[in-house]
Amino acid sequence: MEYPILGTEPLPVEFANTLYGDFDCLGTPALAAGWFAEMGLGVADAGRARELRDAVRQALSHEADAGAVDVLNAFAAEAPSVLRLEGDRKARWVSTTDSVLGRIATCAIELLVDGVVPRRCGAPDCGLMFVAQHARRRFCHPTCSGRVRQARYYRRQLEEQA
Ligand SMILES: [Zn+2]
Repeated sequence: MEYPILGTEPLPVEFANTLYGDFDCLGTPALAAGWFAEMGLGVADAGRARELRDAVRQALSHEADAGAVDVLNAFAAEAPSVLRLEGDRKARWVSTTDSVLGRIATCAIELLVDGVVPRRCGAPDCGLMFVAQHARRRFCHPTCSGRVRQARYYRRQLEEQA
């Protein structure tokens, strides 16, 4: 099973991409377990993961609606963290539980607060979300831009022959 994991995106964006076209990578417990393992994360319940994923997708692609806000807050509450002092005047927030979904919800809230608005890949058969580091980026991955460029090339060839 090859999951649509870009490996370049913030965790909540990769998580939102578990709905890939019609295919739901969290659709069954086995699929979900595979995705979490591939991401190097602990396991989570597939049904609850889908609930959080749908809220994350909603909040990242539109203005978060009241339902998504409630879901994100409820999941984030599962990831209590403490501020730990690490040496002289350095500190870091560390999670006190290993709730994967809580961590994802917390990361998603941070992305929203930072004003991050992911784009959709411009390849018609893709649509994965990604965070554009520069304004002109239109594709999630070079393979998508290559595919689109190739399709355009063949179309032009056909038009010239016609
Ligand atoms: Zn793409």
